[in-house]
Amino acid sequence: MDLYGSVGQIKGIGPKKLNILSKLGINTISDMLYYFPRTYQNRTIITKIKDINLPGDVLVKANIKLITKNNNFRSRKQTLKLLIGDDTGILEVVFFNAKYVEKSLSMGEEYSFYGKITISNGKIQMIHPEFTKENNEDLQGIIPVYSLVSGITQNEIRKWIKKSLECIYMEKDHLSDELLYNKRLCKIDYALYNIHKPEDIQKLKIAKYRLIFDELLIFQLGLFKIKNSGNQLEFNYKIIKLGETDNFIKSLPFNLTDAQKKVAKEVIKDMESEKPMNRLIQGDVGSGKTVIAEIAIYKAVRSGYQAAMMAPTEILAKQHFKGLEAIFTPHGIKVGILCGSMTAKDKKETLLSLYSGEIDVIVGTHAIIQDKVSFRKLGLVITDEQHRFGVNQRRMFADKGEGVDKLVMTATPIPRTLAVIIYGDLDISVINELPPGRKNIITNSVSTKNRDAAYKFIQAEIEKGHQAYVVTPLIEESENLDLLSSVEVYNELKAKWKNVSTGLIHGEMKQSEKDIVMLDFYEGKIQILVATVVIEVGINVPNATVMIIENAERFGLAQLHQLRGRVGRGGDQSYCTLVTNSNSEIAKERQNIMVSSSDGFEIAEKDLELRGPGEFFGLRQHGLPNLRIADVVKHLKILMEARLVANEILEIDPNMNNKENQLLNNKVKKMYKELDSFDITL
Ligand code: ADP
Ligand code: MG
Repeated sequence: MDLYGSVGQIKGIGPKKLNILSKLGINTISDMLYYFPRTYQNRTIITKIKDINLPGDVLVKANIKLITKNNNFRSRKQTLKLLIGDDTGILEVVFFNAKYVEKSLSMGEEYSFYGKITISNGKIQMIHPEFTKENNEDLQGIIPVYSLVSGITQNEIRKWIKKSLECIYMEKDHLSDELLYNKRLCKIDYALYNIHKPEDIQKLKIAKYRLIFDELLIFQLGLFKIKNSGNQLEFNYKIIKLGETDNFIKSLPFNLTDAQKKVAKEVIKDMESEKPMNRLIQGDVGSGKTVIAEIAIYKAVRSGYQAAMMAPTEILAKQHFKGLEAIFTPHGIKVGILCGSMTAKDKKETLLSLYSGEIDVIVGTHAIIQDKVSFRKLGLVITDEQHRFGVNQRRMFADKGEGVDKLVMTATPIPRTLAVIIYGDLDISVINELPPGRKNIITNSVSTKNRDAAYKFIQAEIEKGHQAYVVTPLIEESENLDLLSSVEVYNELKAKWKNVSTGLIHGEMKQSEKDIVMLDFYEGKIQILVATVVIEVGINVPNATVMIIENAERFGLAQLHQLRGRVGRGGDQSYCTLVTNSNSEIAKERQNIMVSSSDGFEIAEKDLELRGPGEFFGLRQHGLPNLRIADVVKHLKILMEARLVANEILEIDPNMNNKENQLLNNKVKKMYKELDSFDITL
């Protein structure tokens, strides 16, 4: 077998499995080895039957004393019951619908059983355990548990990984011996072997530490490389001193909040300084970030520069275009738009006027980072909802000009320590205050049972002339998950309320279709909009006062907060109901946070706290590659250390072209390659 050859080399992996594995990012044997367990089962301790304590998983070694079958004709299912015994007692074991199990069990023989203990009708049972004849290393010891997708079983993946481990001697270490020694790290083959088949907890720890360090080092190297790869002409900075903004600010239809005033001052100071601005504005949904962008744009244009603003969706880009046009046209500033759905002719015209300098401000989707877009005199780039773009895309945007001022805006708060790492020398401003007169959105949480009441409430709001959102996690019904899909809910509502006009929007629709629906909702022609998370970013329909979020347990807290921010944008009291289909403690705690807090920063912090082990921080949400084993929050200390090492490596070999860095460089490229396909359009 060849380590870098296809996993098809493994017996039992045919075209169908190849396809599924490839969706998991597993193409080569090496990829298979980097598919780390989600967790482990400790099957090192054999429990005596009399010592079984509820609840949980146990390993029991016992003889089969009795096998009985029970056919249920209606469901055509067969239940298999065993009585097993060791020298301390008897235990009942149940298999549901498992004809194949019977064949592999014989009366009187001894097996190891590993499974969950439950109580049914007052009786202690072990349900559907894994079992094996004695001394099977695959069922005893510390057993890895892998994340699965439909079409692949736990046993299959364990078997394939075991086979892949035979190739491990071919894996050359991409870290130097010196580094391994200095940082007390084990070799990569040792790490990969023990992450999958640890002999004991100690070895597992050593393996994990190496792989976490490894991943964070690669992550950090990639970040530094992207940063360094950009335009090196930052000395050719723009000083934007002209453009007195006071009059512009006075011409706005409202007074700035204190927080906005403070942030506007910081931005103006940056723009006037001798260094290019590099600033992140964090501000909760509705805190009024756009006006800060407008002030910066005004200043840049008055100083003789062009400005560009990038948004993650066409809907949002168009909304910004309309807003900016209304604000700037009276000042004689020309605003243009560029997005994917425009005709070739319109695009060409826009590109031309951008190049000639006729257009002062361009708003667009990621269409504005394409090669063919060039400016006459670009001085300022603004990225709205920046967390929806990849780091590469932000870099490309900034490279449209030389030494331009950069402003990025987000409503997804990120802990400060992390922001510094991810954004490097970015300065951060926070708008921590909402414009006056905003009413809190009244949030409540109900279980699926009480769903109807929530919909009655929507009906009442609609009778008052308001509009509503219903958000669902899925587009179409799924066989595996008990979730409500947008299509399902849409059909249900249409059938139920014939006099109400209902619309549907989701990410699989064509852009032109989405635009029509959004426009209709905006103009009030649609009263209830059933949607997936496409509406998460920036949509502004002040007449919408109520939102129901179905299967709220499927969304992250920060995401729920973003979604909820779509209502409460006008003067009327607004409401949000979370419909939750889960009774777990965590689910309850999450609901409580949403119900009691309207502060995006507090919610984001709680979100981090509540993340259990194994769950990862959605780096992807910040335009970064997702990590497999490391967690930038949990492993912050290791990350800081990896950062130093990355710095040292790049100081000696900035492009990592030296021979000794080649393997490591390949790893960096591989990790960041997935970002090229970063889905920003939804
Ligand atoms: P976000 O920070 O979510 O991007 P927006 O910039 O879209 O928020 O602002 C939300 C709404 O609040 C807009 O309708 C905007 O006109 C309004 N707004 C912004 N600042 C103020 C203010 N100081 N006073 C009153 N309304 C404001
Ligand atoms: Mg916004």
